[in-house]
Amino acid sequence: MPDVLRGIGVSPGLAAGPVARMSPPPPLPDARTVTDPERETATAAHALEATEARLRERAAAAAGEAHDILDAQSMIAGDPTLRDGVIARIKDGADAPHALRDTFDEHRRTLEGLGGYLAERAADLDDIAHRAIAVALGLPMPGVPDPGHPFVLVADDLAPADTATLDPDRVLALVTERGGPTSHTAILARSLGLPAVVGCAGALDVADETTVTVDGTTGQVRAGVDEEEAAGVRERAADERARLAGGSGPGRTSDGHAVDLMVNIGSAADLAGMDLTDVAGVGLFRTEFLFLDRHDAPGLEEQVAAYSEAFRFFSAGTIVVRTLDAGADKPLQFLGLPDEPNPALGVRGLRVARDRPEILDTQLEAIALASANTSADVWVMAPMVSTQPEADAFAARVRHHGLPTAGVMIEVPAAALRARRFLDVVDFLSIGTNDLSQYTLAADRQTGDLADLLDPWQPALLELIKGCAAAGQDAGKSVGICGEAAADPLLAPVLAGLGITKLSMSPRGLPAVRASLAGYTLAECERLAAVALDTGDAAEARAAVIDATS
Ligand code: PEP
Ligand code: MG
Repeated sequence: MPDVLRGIGVSPGLAAGPVARMSPPPPLPDARTVTDPERETATAAHALEATEARLRERAAAAAGEAHDILDAQSMIAGDPTLRDGVIARIKDGADAPHALRDTFDEHRRTLEGLGGYLAERAADLDDIAHRAIAVALGLPMPGVPDPGHPFVLVADDLAPADTATLDPDRVLALVTERGGPTSHTAILARSLGLPAVVGCAGALDVADETTVTVDGTTGQVRAGVDEEEAAGVRERAADERARLAGGSGPGRTSDGHAVDLMVNIGSAADLAGMDLTDVAGVGLFRTEFLFLDRHDAPGLEEQVAAYSEAFRFFSAGTIVVRTLDAGADKPLQFLGLPDEPNPALGVRGLRVARDRPEILDTQLEAIALASANTSADVWVMAPMVSTQPEADAFAARVRHHGLPTAGVMIEVPAAALRARRFLDVVDFLSIGTNDLSQYTLAADRQTGDLADLLDPWQPALLELIKGCAAAGQDAGKSVGICGEAAADPLLAPVLAGLGITKLSMSPRGLPAVRASLAGYTLAECERLAAVALDTGDAAEARAAVIDATS
């Protein structure tokens, strides 16, 4: 009998194949007394050099973002300050593995102290430390295994350096013990179109080469299945892929109720090479990527050029531009924001404009200038809006710059509860379910251990979505979703049933969402929404809808 494990399905699809587990970080043995410091120094130096070289090799073999991540990691491994720190510790009597661990730990604490985006990079340091310690101990370097055949990758969680170089032709599916719906693993799996299950307790206990089936929708992993069951799952997966590939047309339910399907982008580069047939437009243009890693804000001309480049891809349809979303998980150096004890509850999103209104005005001017050169419909929205006067003031500024359509993101429960009032002063709402989950369930979106609370199937979140959608219907205004929830095909009919009329997601997710919506009438969607709402938590809601649809 196969063992049935349950996690959270975060990237839809079925897969079957043998498990290959990610090598765990090397265990650190007890500290040794160092008798030959020179030899110890040579061991540590070799460990850092070998790690740097291996990461450089992998960077050379990768392209785009993967190349940049690995290149940055190889530079960290070769950083002379780090090396000096290790040598100093050995002089003080530490052995090579402990000197490496303690030095990396110290750098980690420094990064964590800086908060936000840099704190997230702290996990990258752990990954480099594990590699160097493994070399110092004469163990194989941890990382993605290569069993020589396609495999289901099972890991505790995936570090960016691992995910950046995953070969989707080799990896059949991802299963991790930790991580949540907005984790790096989940986002990557969706962008590669790989089935994925996160938060799956017991996954690492499944031995290598055990045949498993993975259902990225239900979150079920069956370990130890026989060849017949595996073949059946592969066949269903192939049928499903063929069905999705054959889908086309705008998003709609089987009885023709329209749900606009749109894409999320960070820059024009994301649109290059994308098949935009039947895409209703961009539902979320995250402009802050233009501002990351900068000492000064990009000037007016640079911004006009960047926005124009993206707008050029659309001669029709809607492009929703989000103004700068700085702070918390997206700290921006040039703003010089003060340290805050709780950055997610601090000066972030639209709140930055309280002290720095000129940044917002320059951005709005740039968007207005860029929009003059496109026939697409440019809408503008602000992140992290909490009160109606904030929404009103933002909309006034947008219109002052000659941009006709102003909206706000609903990311704060206070805003969701007051959606009706907001719609008195703005033209549309777009629900950011990543942040709305975090604030509604009081669970940090950067903490994988709280994945179950961050799950967009939480009935409390669905209830808030329902209220916003109803307010939109009454006002005759658009209410969409642009958080990760929009890419969940099983959730799509539920969201349509709650009254949502736009879903914006990473492009890979779109065919499955389109196919899913086409499978139900609007009345069936409404029934599924009622089923999901009438449950106690996310797991129950998902299970009840699976039950009602099978
Ligand atoms: C969200 O919060 O759901 C959202 C779309 O914004 P971001 O993920 O960029 O914070
Ligand atoms: Mg957000």
